[in-house]
Amino acid sequence: MSTNSLLILPGDGIGPEVMAEVSRIIAWFADRRGLKFDVNEDLVGGAAHDVHGVPLADETMEKAQSVDAVLLGAVGGPKYDDLDFSVKPERGLLRLRKEMDLFANLRPAVCFDALADFSSLKREVVAGLDIMIVRELTSGSYFGEPRGIFEENGERVGINTQRYTESEIDRVARAAFDLARKRAGRVCSMEKANVMESGILWREVVQAVRDADYPDIELSHMYADNGGMQLVRNPRQFDVIVTDNLFGDLLSDVAAMLTGSLGMLPSASLGAPMENGRPRALYEPVHGSAPDIAGQGKANPCATILSFAMALRYSFDAGDEADRLEAAVEKVLADGVRTADLMQTEGGSPASTRKMGDAIIAALEASL
Ligand code: NAD
Repeated sequence: MSTNSLLILPGDGIGPEVMAEVSRIIAWFADRRGLKFDVNEDLVGGAAHDVHGVPLADETMEKAQSVDAVLLGAVGGPKYDDLDFSVKPERGLLRLRKEMDLFANLRPAVCFDALADFSSLKREVVAGLDIMIVRELTSGSYFGEPRGIFEENGERVGINTQRYTESEIDRVARAAFDLARKRAGRVCSMEKANVMESGILWREVVQAVRDADYPDIELSHMYADNGGMQLVRNPRQFDVIVTDNLFGDLLSDVAAMLTGSLGMLPSASLGAPMENGRPRALYEPVHGSAPDIAGQGKANPCATILSFAMALRYSFDAGDEADRLEAAVEKVLADGVRTADLMQTEGGSPASTRKMGDAIIAALEASL
C-alpha cells in the first residue's frame, strides 16, 4: 500500500486557475521523480452548489475521508453572496474541516530573499525567515460553552468561553513537536498563563508531553502578548510556535504579513493519524477566490504550489521533493519572474499564472 492518494478540489474564482498549475507540477513529479499520485478531482464551494445545490456533496466528503490528502483552491464569489447561510460556499470548507476533525492548523511564514522588500519590516529583520505557527483549530474560545448574548440585571452580556481539555492540548502539542522534528527542533508555546487558568493548564500539558515523549525537542514558553511583540521585533528567533485557537488566529496573521504577499502563503490543517499512519490532511492557500482577477490569468499560483509542497512533506513523506519544489519557487522569484501581485510599482511586465507555472517547472527540471 504505497500509493499516494490525493483529492483535488479547485473550487471557485482563481481556484481552478492556480490548481491547473499544481496539476502540471504533480505530473512533473510523476514523470521525472517517479512519485505517483492517484488523483481524483471534484467540486467544492459555489462550483459544487451549481451542480448539487450544496457546497460539498456527501460523495465528495466520503472521498475526502478516504484519501491521504485533500488539496483545495479557494471558494466563494459575488455570484453566491445571496445564498442562504447554510449553503454558502464557505460551508463546504467548514464541513471538510469539521468532519475530518482537523485540529492543527499549520501556517508557515517564510520570507524568500527575493521578496524581503515586500515585508512591512526591514529586510534585515525578515530575510531568511522560516517559522511555522501551529494553531489549535477545533476548540477554545470559538467553540467553548456557554456562549451567547444574555440578559443580566437589565442589560445584555456577551459571553464566550475559553475551554480546553487536556487531550485537546496534548494532541496539538504532539503535532507541533512532530513538526519540529522535521525542522530545527525548537517549539515555543504561547498562552496567557499569567491571567488565564486555561493557559496554566496549556503550559503544564505541553511541558508534560515534551518531557514524556519529546526530550529531543527544545521547548520554551511565552505569554502570547509578548509573542506578538517578538514576532515583529525579532521573528527569526522562532522555529515552531504552538498556540490556541484565538491567539493563533491573531499571531498567524501577524506572521503572514512579515512575508509580504497573500499570493505566497500556503497552509495545512492536520487531524489524527489514519490507519496508514498518515494524518488526515487538508492543504490550501491562505488567500480566497480573488473574484477581482478571476479568469484573467493574473493569479499567483505560488501559494497553492507551496501548499502542495507541504503535502509532499507532511502527508507523503517526501521532504526532499518538497525542498526541491520550494527551491524552484525561490529560484523563479530570484530570477525576477513575478505575477502582478509581486511587482513593485513600476517597471517590467508581469508574468501570467501559466508563465509562472512554466518557470517553476523549468526550475524543477534544472534541479535534476
Ligand atoms: P481574497 O484573498 O480572495 O483577495 C484579496 C485580494 O488579494 C484581492 O485583491 C485579490 O485579487 C488578491 N489576491 C488573492 N489571492 C491572490 C493570488 N493568488 N494572486 C494574486 N492576487 C491575489 O479575499 P477577498 O477578496 O476578501 O474574498 C474574495 C472571496 O473569497 C470571498 O467570496 C470570500 O468569502 C472568499 N474567501 C475564501 C477563502 C477560502 O477559500 N479559504 C478565504 C478568504 C476569502
